[in-house]
Amino acid sequence: MLEVLAPTMIDYAPPELAAEMVPLLLSGREQWCQGFSEPGSGSDLASLTTRATPHGDQWVINGQKVWTSFAQYSHRCILLTRTGDGHDGITAFFIDMDTPGIDVRPLRTMHGVDEFCEVYFDDVVVDGSRMLGQPGDGWQLAMDLLPYERSTCFWQRIAYLYARFDALIAEVKRQGAAVDNDLGAVYLALHTLRSRSRATQHRLADGGRLGPDTSIDKVLLASAEQLLYDTTRDLLPGRIELDDAEWRAEYLYSRAATIYGGTAEIQRNIIARRLLDLPKE
Ligand SMILES: Cc1cc2nc3c(=O)[nH]c(=O)nc-3n(C[C@H](O)[C@H](O)[C@H](O)COP(=O)(O)OP(=O)(O)OC[C@H]3O[C@@H](n4cnc5c(N)ncnc54)[C@H](O)[C@@H]3O)c2cc1C
Repeated sequence: MLEVLAPTMIDYAPPELAAEMVPLLLSGREQWCQGFSEPGSGSDLASLTTRATPHGDQWVINGQKVWTSFAQYSHRCILLTRTGDGHDGITAFFIDMDTPGIDVRPLRTMHGVDEFCEVYFDDVVVDGSRMLGQPGDGWQLAMDLLPYERSTCFWQRIAYLYARFDALIAEVKRQGAAVDNDLGAVYLALHTLRSRSRATQHRLADGGRLGPDTSIDKVLLASAEQLLYDTTRDLLPGRIELDDAEWRAEYLYSRAATIYGGTAEIQRNIIARRLLDLPKE
């Protein structure tokens, strides 16, 4: 959330609000969440229906979000709402999660963690000063935010995957098996991902603007992560299926990599249409 929400706040919040809030996130004093997806709006985000209605200097929000990661621990939320028709009718707000009318219900994932939540908004009043950008800027905000979610935030995840790769090699050796081509393929996938991610981080640091090209980072992350845990399943027979251990939870969580931040199919569509200029199917 740090790498994803902090740049968005700096770009879109009124400067005084960003100056007050971003240090709270960066210092770890607060946790924030991202309220985009809804029961009927995931890949087709522009169809979202959580409505914000103007009321004097304030707005009144009604609707439901889902899959909102760590909403139960969050102090604030960057929320997309509908204020008009179509892409131009989406408006973003920065909401305090303790505002009356917000009901957060955690959802348990198949790897046994309450990672994300349903979040209900029932006549939630937010001040107009909490709008991010102008009315109708929400779609552009989402388009600017998603590249961070599909690239720069992966750096630490990649370091973690390397650590798990080392742990896998150690376990395979303990069993007396040879470190073979399967592990070589995982190393190549991880290294390709890390090289790509390094280039993306440098591009951002050099003032570059991240866009649809980050869909490549996302595809590489999801493929490498799933290959690592698929290989673990193959090389440590029974561990994932029969043991209720760390590897099992991680294997199950790796399935989410082709869903969060936009599914693998959506990333491939973006690469095909926007980077390779291929026609629609
Ligand atoms: C671990 C995790 C954390 C998440 N955290 C958050 C969060 O903090 N905040 C938030 O807002 N959301 C969050 N999400 C939700 C995530 O963004 C959505 O799950 C994702 O965008 C997909 O939407 P959906 O689940 O509605 O699936 P759908 O959009 O219904 O897709 C279902 C299937 O249809 C395919 N599909 C859909 N449209 C097309 C198309 N045009 N072409 C080809 N195939 C297509 C998809 O690829 C997928 O396989 C999280 C999800 C996960 C798994």
